[in-house]
Amino acid sequence: MPLTLRALPAFADNYIWLLHDARHALAVDPGDAFPVLETLASLGLQLGAILATHHHGDHVSGIGDLLKRHPGTPVYGPATEAIPGRTVALSGGELLQIPHPAVALKALSTPGHTRGHVSYYGAGYLFCGDTLFGGGCGRLFEGTPAQMFASLESLARLPDDTLVCCAHEYTLDNLQFALTVDADNPVLQARMQTTLRLRQAGRPSLPSPLGLEKATNPFLRCDMAALRASAVRRGASADAQAVEVFAAIRKAKDAFRV
Ligand code: ZN
Ligand code: FE
Repeated sequence: MPLTLRALPAFADNYIWLLHDARHALAVDPGDAFPVLETLASLGLQLGAILATHHHGDHVSGIGDLLKRHPGTPVYGPATEAIPGRTVALSGGELLQIPHPAVALKALSTPGHTRGHVSYYGAGYLFCGDTLFGGGCGRLFEGTPAQMFASLESLARLPDDTLVCCAHEYTLDNLQFALTVDADNPVLQARMQTTLRLRQAGRPSLPSPLGLEKATNPFLRCDMAALRASAVRRGASADAQAVEVFAAIRKAKDAFRV
């Protein structure tokens, strides 16, 4: 059965991703149960699996209510983090054969935003929580720049047509920052225009193809001369390695206000 992807808006700027085969659905990072329950009911779907990328409340706070309404639903999540109702503990590298909906997903260890953060890849989709965003990446709450840089490098090795399903609609703000560090990138300039039109029409900017992220996301372009020059202007040494460029650009993003 073909799979259909839906982005369910939650809170101010979260997306809960729902992947379904017209009978069963899996939900990724349900910070709120309500939009999930409402969509399951309106489409006549059974809940078959819950996937969590990390322990933050905006990603897991709906799990308890989903389990009350759909007891016995398997809950996948990182082994080292507190995930409500978790039944399958992951550390990265596991191949998950989810039966309902039938889909094979690989769990990837992607620390940086949190220490145990995992992402899920399969069927052409990447569910990467708060690791890789449209035009940006997650804040380093628990991990180091080197950890996040390595996580992003591992995600960048996936096929270019992979659809990036991240957990927040941050793309516009991220692209605004990206233009301050990679101003002459024509693909980035064009993406800004496309994203502005999508958001003005009230449509999600996501999922985005990984190939587009590689061409426009500054955090995947730390080996490019333009990004190195931006990092050097922000205090990195002239012979900075890509990971140091990443650290300088991430720090500049932390201080950036639109
Ligand atoms: Zn988070
Ligand atoms: Fe989040």
